[in-house]
Amino acid sequence: MISLEDNINKGLEIISALDADSLTALEIRDILYSLVSRNYDIIDSILAEAIERGLVTRSERKYHFNQEASGLDFEKPTVRVLEEVGNCVLCGKRLTKCCYVVFPSRTYGPFGLGCVRKVHLSQ
Ligand SMILES: [Zn+2]
Repeated sequence: MISLEDNINKGLEIISALDADSLTALEIRDILYSLVSRNYDIIDSILAEAIERGLVTRSERKYHFNQEASGLDFEKPTVRVLEEVGNCVLCGKRLTKCCYVVFPSRTYGPFGLGCVRKVHLSQ
Protein backbone atom coordinates (compact mmCIF):
# COMPACT_ATOMS: atom_id res chain seq x y z
CA MET A 1 0.00 0.00 0.00
CA ILE A 2 1.50 3.30 -1.07
CA SER A 3 0.68 6.16 1.25
CA LEU A 4 -0.55 9.54 0.08
CA GLU A 5 2.73 11.02 1.24
CA ASP A 6 4.73 8.56 -0.90
CA ASN A 7 2.60 9.42 -3.91
CA ILE A 8 3.05 13.12 -3.31
CA ASN A 9 6.82 12.71 -3.05
CA LYS A 10 6.85 10.63 -6.20
CA GLY A 11 4.84 13.29 -8.02
CA LEU A 12 7.06 16.12 -6.80
CA GLU A 13 10.13 14.19 -7.90
CA ILE A 14 8.70 13.86 -11.40
CA ILE A 15 7.57 17.49 -11.54
CA SER A 16 11.02 18.65 -10.48
CA ALA A 17 12.57 16.59 -13.29
CA LEU A 18 10.35 17.90 -16.06
CA ASP A 19 12.44 19.87 -18.51
CA ALA A 20 9.75 22.25 -19.70
CA ASP A 21 8.92 25.88 -19.08
CA SER A 22 5.23 25.19 -18.88
CA LEU A 23 2.66 22.49 -19.49
CA THR A 24 -1.08 22.65 -19.77
CA ALA A 25 -3.09 21.27 -16.88
CA LEU A 26 -4.06 18.37 -19.14
CA GLU A 27 -0.47 17.50 -20.04
CA ILE A 28 0.78 17.54 -16.47
CA ARG A 29 -2.21 15.53 -15.26
CA ASP A 30 -1.61 12.96 -18.01
CA ILE A 31 1.97 12.52 -16.90
CA LEU A 32 1.04 12.15 -13.24
CA TYR A 33 -1.83 9.83 -14.14
CA SER A 34 0.48 7.54 -16.10
CA LEU A 35 3.40 7.58 -13.70
CA VAL A 36 2.06 8.10 -10.20
CA SER A 37 -1.61 7.44 -9.66
CA ARG A 38 -4.91 7.00 -11.45
CA ASN A 39 -6.65 8.74 -8.57
CA TYR A 40 -7.42 12.35 -9.44
CA ASP A 41 -7.64 13.33 -5.76
CA ILE A 42 -4.00 12.28 -5.39
CA ILE A 43 -3.04 14.14 -8.57
CA ASP A 44 -4.74 17.27 -7.21
CA SER A 45 -2.87 16.87 -3.92
CA ILE A 46 0.45 16.58 -5.78
CA LEU A 47 -0.24 19.72 -7.79
CA ALA A 48 -1.37 21.64 -4.71
CA GLU A 49 1.82 20.62 -2.88
CA ALA A 50 3.97 21.56 -5.90
CA ILE A 51 2.40 25.04 -5.89
CA GLU A 52 2.84 25.34 -2.13
CA ARG A 53 6.55 24.46 -2.40
CA GLY A 54 7.09 26.88 -5.26
CA LEU A 55 7.96 24.20 -7.85
CA VAL A 56 5.20 25.44 -10.13
CA THR A 57 2.97 28.44 -10.47
CA ARG A 58 -0.44 28.17 -11.97
CA SER A 59 -1.90 30.55 -14.49
CA GLU A 60 -5.33 30.23 -15.98
CA ARG A 61 -4.63 27.23 -18.20
CA LYS A 62 -1.02 26.31 -17.60
CA TYR A 63 1.46 25.27 -15.00
CA HIS A 64 4.75 27.12 -15.17
CA PHE A 65 7.86 25.47 -13.80
CA ASN A 66 10.17 27.31 -11.52
CA GLN A 67 13.56 26.00 -12.62
CA GLU A 68 15.34 27.67 -9.69
CA ALA A 69 13.31 25.81 -7.11
CA SER A 70 13.20 22.52 -8.95
CA GLY A 71 16.84 21.67 -8.36
CA LEU A 72 16.67 22.03 -4.60
CA ASP A 73 15.29 18.78 -3.28
CA PHE A 74 15.55 16.18 -5.98
CA GLU A 75 18.25 14.80 -8.20
CA LYS A 76 17.71 14.89 -11.95
CA PRO A 77 17.06 11.49 -13.45
CA THR A 78 19.06 9.77 -16.14
CA VAL A 79 17.56 7.98 -19.13
CA ARG A 80 18.58 4.42 -19.91
CA VAL A 81 17.73 2.90 -23.29
CA LEU A 82 17.48 -0.87 -23.60
CA GLU A 83 16.94 -3.01 -26.68
CA GLU A 84 13.97 -4.99 -25.43
CA VAL A 85 10.32 -5.50 -26.11
CA GLY A 86 7.71 -3.72 -24.01
CA ASN A 87 4.73 -1.39 -24.06
CA CYS A 88 5.00 2.34 -23.50
CA VAL A 89 3.45 3.35 -20.16
CA LEU A 90 2.14 6.60 -21.66
CA CYS A 91 0.64 5.63 -25.02
CA GLY A 92 0.62 1.83 -24.83
CA LYS A 93 2.55 1.46 -28.09
CA ARG A 94 4.62 -1.68 -28.53
CA LEU A 95 8.32 -0.96 -28.26
CA THR A 96 11.48 -2.69 -29.35
CA LYS A 97 13.61 0.03 -27.81
CA CYS A 98 12.59 0.90 -24.26
CA CYS A 99 13.58 4.10 -22.46
CA TYR A 100 13.62 4.07 -18.68
CA VAL A 101 13.83 7.17 -16.55
CA VAL A 102 16.02 6.36 -13.59
CA PHE A 103 15.84 8.30 -10.33
CA PRO A 104 18.02 7.39 -7.37
CA SER A 105 15.02 5.87 -5.62
CA ARG A 106 13.02 4.38 -8.48
CA THR A 107 12.74 3.79 -12.19
CA TYR A 108 9.87 4.71 -14.49
CA GLY A 109 9.09 3.19 -17.82
CA PRO A 110 9.29 1.84 -20.33
CA PHE A 111 8.65 4.78 -22.63
CA GLY A 112 9.00 5.04 -26.38
CA LEU A 113 11.50 7.53 -27.73
CA GLY A 114 8.70 9.99 -28.60
CA CYS A 115 7.01 9.74 -25.21
CA VAL A 116 10.18 10.15 -23.20
CA ARG A 117 10.41 13.54 -24.92
CA LYS A 118 6.73 14.15 -24.33
CA VAL A 119 7.19 13.93 -20.58
CA HIS A 120 10.02 16.43 -20.99
CA LEU A 121 12.31 14.65 -18.62
CA SER A 122 15.76 16.09 -19.14
CA GLN A 123 18.43 13.71 -20.34
ZN1 LIG B 1 4.55 6.12 -25.89
